[in-house]
Amino acid sequence: MSFFSSRGGSCVTASQAILQGLAPNGGLYVPAMFPTVSGADLAVMGSMSYPQRAALILRQYLEDFSPAEIEQDVAAAYGADRFRDPAVAPVRKLDDSTFVLELFHGPTLAFKDMALQLLPHLIRRSAEKNGETREVSILVATSGDTGKAALEGFRDVPGTSCTVFYPLEGVSDVQKLQMVTTAGANTHVIAVRGNFDDAQTGVKELFSSEAFAEKMREKGRVLSSANSINFGRLVPQIVYYFSAYADLVKQGAVRMGDPVNFCVPTGNFGDILAGYYARNMGLPVNRLICASNRNNVLTDFFNTGIYSTHRTFFRTISPSMDILVSSNLERLLYEAADRDGELIATWMRQLKECGSFSVGEQRLDWLGSMFWAECADDKDTLAEIRNRYLQDHYLTDPHTAVAGHVLREYRKARNDQTPTVIVATASPYKFAADVLRALKNTEEREPDAFAASEELERMTGVPMPDQVQGLRDLPVRHRRECEKTGMAEAVLAELA
Ligand SMILES: *Cc1c(COP(=O)(O)O)cnc(C)c1O
Repeated sequence: MSFFSSRGGSCVTASQAILQGLAPNGGLYVPAMFPTVSGADLAVMGSMSYPQRAALILRQYLEDFSPAEIEQDVAAAYGADRFRDPAVAPVRKLDDSTFVLELFHGPTLAFKDMALQLLPHLIRRSAEKNGETREVSILVATSGDTGKAALEGFRDVPGTSCTVFYPLEGVSDVQKLQMVTTAGANTHVIAVRGNFDDAQTGVKELFSSEAFAEKMREKGRVLSSANSINFGRLVPQIVYYFSAYADLVKQGAVRMGDPVNFCVPTGNFGDILAGYYARNMGLPVNRLICASNRNNVLTDFFNTGIYSTHRTFFRTISPSMDILVSSNLERLLYEAADRDGELIATWMRQLKECGSFSVGEQRLDWLGSMFWAECADDKDTLAEIRNRYLQDHYLTDPHTAVAGHVLREYRKARNDQTPTVIVATASPYKFAADVLRALKNTEEREPDAFAASEELERMTGVPMPDQVQGLRDLPVRHRRECEKTGMAEAVLAELA
């Protein structure tokens, strides 16, 4: 399988696409075609373990990886030492037509683990395949969740290191504790005296600085990125859509071949895009429901065909979806534009220069035949957490609750009885204070996250994951701080 740039040109192998991350012309790597998974393969998946299901899907795209290499990597990523639930991504039934796909049983309790547990292995192999003998050094700026997921993924993976910058102002106490207690000889965590934008801008500058790249080369290292536009992060996400379907058939909830919907809490459009790729590969998906929080740029896009960033940015209780530019949408636009890279380049230029672009009536209709989009504000989200618990005795985190609310709106609007899977992206214990205040129906928010978790456990009997439980007692291993102008020196000192 070859990969092209979504903005035209480039033709690379899977390992090159993974190693490079972004195409040289700024486009995203897209597969030359969508391989199909037959009904027979889908039927066989029902009796496979999650790592076996992952290997089956990955093989379709990673043609320059041998089956044995893929099997080793998925075994390392999805083993019992990494995921608390033996099913890895279990499907729970809420009622006859509503199911939840739980993607939060990994080390950091959020869906980012599904991809970031595997990506480091794919990067290491891609480096080997392309004769890259230097250590691959990953740099990440984080507003909280991605940083910890990257650190856990790269921890002790040979031939790699991972350095995370987080803003001193702006991450929660638990998020900070999660990062600074990370073990592993190749993990580095640096606090930037500034906000998230300062950290992100600083990392972007490091990536574009030839002087910094040269200093890293002198140390025998080459820079790379683990952000969500890397194809190596997308491909592991395709797996759980197939896995969920196989489980629904196995549970007798749908008959093989019958359509299902997925309702996905969306920010950067990576998770739901993987669902669209699964659909193109032959998975019987009727509709993909795109759920946004108050930052509803995608809701407006799917309803008008106009993508516009001329809007206010809101901080919400579902912070991992607080995003105005959904990078992975570019891969869907590429298909909507009949794979016309020049048109994509034009739209992306308009977005950068004017803050908006329009796809036109016909393409909007095409998108509307597969996607439906709506949003939920914080009040809707809190009400959904409470109602879902009262109705189904099921605890949802705020991100998942955004999807739960939007699914109710979809059913009201379309009266569609197709069985629907809500994609659950975080453990409720990762956002215990807000979940607790939703259940108690109060404005008051417990300031201590551990106290909130304990009360939540007492109140609901839903067990608190060990990752939260044990966090208080772990030693702090990372204490380095730097000014926003001193990030290059800080990395070089860390990696010395
Ligand atoms: C990243 C994230 C999302 C959004 O996923 P995208 O791929 O960016 O659309 C939703 N929920 C949680 C908990 C996340 O961490």
